Amino acid sequence: MKRIGVLTSGGDAPGMNAAIRAVVRKAIYHDVEVFGIKNGYQGLMEGNIEPMNVGSVGDIIQRGGTILFSARSDKFKTEEGQNLAIEQLNKYEIDGLIVIGGDGSFRGAQKLTAKGYPCIGVPGTIDNDIAGTDFTIGFDTALNTVIEAIDKIRDTATSHERTYIIEVMGRDAGDLALWAGLSGGAESIIIPEKKDDFNEVIDRLKRGQERGKKHSIIVLAEGVGSGIEYGERIQEATNLETRVTVLGYIQRGGSPSAQDRVLASRLGAKAVEILINGKSGRMVGIENNELVDYDINDILSKKHELNKEMYQLSKELSI
Ligand code: ADP
Repeated sequence: MKRIGVLTSGGDAPGMNAAIRAVVRKAIYHDVEVFGIKNGYQGLMEGNIEPMNVGSVGDIIQRGGTILFSARSDKFKTEEGQNLAIEQLNKYEIDGLIVIGGDGSFRGAQKLTAKGYPCIGVPGTIDNDIAGTDFTIGFDTALNTVIEAIDKIRDTATSHERTYIIEVMGRDAGDLALWAGLSGGAESIIIPEKKDDFNEVIDRLKRGQERGKKHSIIVLAEGVGSGIEYGERIQEATNLETRVTVLGYIQRGGSPSAQDRVLASRLGAKAVEILINGKSGRMVGIENNELVDYDINDILSKKHELNKEMYQLSKELSI
């Protein structure tokens, strides 16, 4: 491989820049040229492609977002769009592509791979919803943002004796809510994987009420539905004054944490290594602090498993 390309796609995540930096520098270290593709698959189809060098990724390791920008493209989901993308890659004589993004972006990489074009996926999303990796790039930073918010809301919760619901992101996965709930000392966690446990949440609130407990913090994952609706249900069932905070997009931004910078650097470099060694259609990940790579088809057919031990612990510590 003489030339590779890199793009970021789907929802942005803190640490994507650190991953781009690692891809560019690792490739140059191995005398491979790197091209940056702007605006994800949209820019790929349009030929929005530029050479990158050591300097073009200077001073970005600490920045959130992505210097290559991101986009969503319906056209790329079509055969015509994918053929256009491959035409552009051939025109620039790019031999392989690294896609930094979430599962949607990997479906795109899967399609290009099926057409014979070598692609490697790097998991970048705050949702931590991808199989084959303990963590995705951006999750740790988002988690720290959520905890900061919980700590602040806790001050008001304690002062005003109310029940607070904090709605966090995560799409269909409860990881962000689970980790935030456990590390923020929440009384309850409501996540899509354990939606049926909602009655237990009500029971716990009622037991607390009987003991004279005046305030509670509940972390709710967006995947279960609207925090506002849950707030109404809780207020009806318990008569506790309930307030809802939807954290929203602040969770996607900010300077990446040390964990995310290290993870992004390791995964970005690993992606280059396996691509130039001839692998294709793989996703790189981290398991038990070891770098791994898996068939992207397998990854996309599996679900990221919830850590049941942690979920149980969260209940035991908030009796
Ligand atoms: P994420 O990567 O964060 O999950 P999306 O689901 O929006 O984000 O996917 C990002 C982009 O990947 C989409 O806009 C589309 O261009 C491409 N993509 C998603 N699903 C497919 C698919 N089934 N086939 C081809 N491309 C896809």
